[in-house]
Amino acid sequence: MADYDVAIVGGGLLGSAFGWGMARAGQSCVVFDEGDNAIRTARGNFGLVWVQGKGAGMPAYAAWSMKSTQLWSGFAAELQDSTGMDLHYVKGGYDIAADEEEYRQSISRLQQIQDEMGSGAYTYEILDNAQLKSVMPLIGDIPGAIYTEHDGHCNPLTLLRALHQDMQKRGAQYRPNSPVTEVRQQTGGGYELVDQAGQIVASAARVVISAGHGSTRLAEPLGIDLPIYADQGQVLVSEKVAPIMQYPTTGVRQTDNGSFLLGVSSKDVGLDTRTDLTTLAGIAKRCIRIFPFLARLRLQRAWGALRVMTPDGCPVYQQSATYPGVFSFACHSGVTLAACHALEVTKWIMDGDIPAAFEVFHPRRFHV
Ligand SMILES: Cc1cc2nc3c(=O)[nH]c(=O)nc-3n(C[C@H](O)[C@H](O)[C@H](O)COP(=O)(O)OP(=O)(O)OC[C@H]3O[C@@H](n4cnc5c(N)ncnc54)[C@H](O)[C@@H]3O)c2cc1C
Repeated sequence: MADYDVAIVGGGLLGSAFGWGMARAGQSCVVFDEGDNAIRTARGNFGLVWVQGKGAGMPAYAAWSMKSTQLWSGFAAELQDSTGMDLHYVKGGYDIAADEEEYRQSISRLQQIQDEMGSGAYTYEILDNAQLKSVMPLIGDIPGAIYTEHDGHCNPLTLLRALHQDMQKRGAQYRPNSPVTEVRQQTGGGYELVDQAGQIVASAARVVISAGHGSTRLAEPLGIDLPIYADQGQVLVSEKVAPIMQYPTTGVRQTDNGSFLLGVSSKDVGLDTRTDLTTLAGIAKRCIRIFPFLARLRLQRAWGALRVMTPDGCPVYQQSATYPGVFSFACHSGVTLAACHALEVTKWIMDGDIPAAFEVFHPRRFHV
């Protein structure tokens, strides 16, 4: 007999959403997390619940992101009711273009996604500078923006904390500072998880590997091909000021505590989370072009974090063909997809099968 129905490796945004969803569905579940020495993207992200621009060339991903944003309000409300923590989820967001080229590209990408999805579901509104200024008087001399009600933002650290707290309240075990070094098949069925000292720390009928950048070394011996790499993003944080911006934009958002977050960069530097002045200055320059008032704010800190990126930017979801019951999930939009991960993907894990409609997210797509 296994100790648990499901053991989850990784207590970041993916693993915690799965753990919460499992506990909510009445499954016995344990979540192992490595701790502060690990790369933990869930603690370094921008907090957008975002659809715009995602899924060009893969309409299933656009639809999946859209579905998650549709589930997000109920998901946030349930977590808030149970924990008393306000996730500060706000619906509505603007993709603001800093120049004409960006504006043209954003519009044509959304048009492509809308055409590929072939339905009226992917709605958005194109605003020129004057239209945008009427709703966002603080913008500068930029061409315009695209608004959609599907986008939004939240406090991603509160989200993570609420998931950890509520999954435990619902009976799941959360074990921080507990790296798993190996997942082994048991004779007679199920899997056992082994720690650094070679001790078996749990056994489970099913295992989910969602350890972000720590997934590959656990997944490979289990016949799981995990084509992920680190895409570094840097974020600047301003001093706290009175609330003046309710809605998020792709590169600038005001958090619930009043500080502004400025992003977003993309660099291939391996597993390096250090910031550098050139990148930070580039971010600041672009954000000030969009919102000139930002030049008057003092900056307090900056960080670098590593997106869990796949070659086409779309999720990689799979069950091992050789070790049935071992699943692996990776994506770069763990905040956005948290609702789908918690409420939909957990059903697949319980059923022991990823539905055919989601075969498009299998990494075999890279081996054509
Ligand atoms: C700069 C930046 C901005 C972003 N902005 C957004 C955004 O606005 N919206 C959005 O949706 N997404 C955003 N993301 C992406 C989002 O943060 C990630 O999708 C999400 O954090 C990935 O979650 P994860 O659980 O896969 O990985 P992680 O959050 O990295 O979690 C993995 C966990 O696994 C644990 N672990 C590793 N190895 C082991 C092991 N052997 N045993 C046990 N535990 C282990 C680690 O301790 C870690 O906690 C952003 C990312 C970055 C870098």
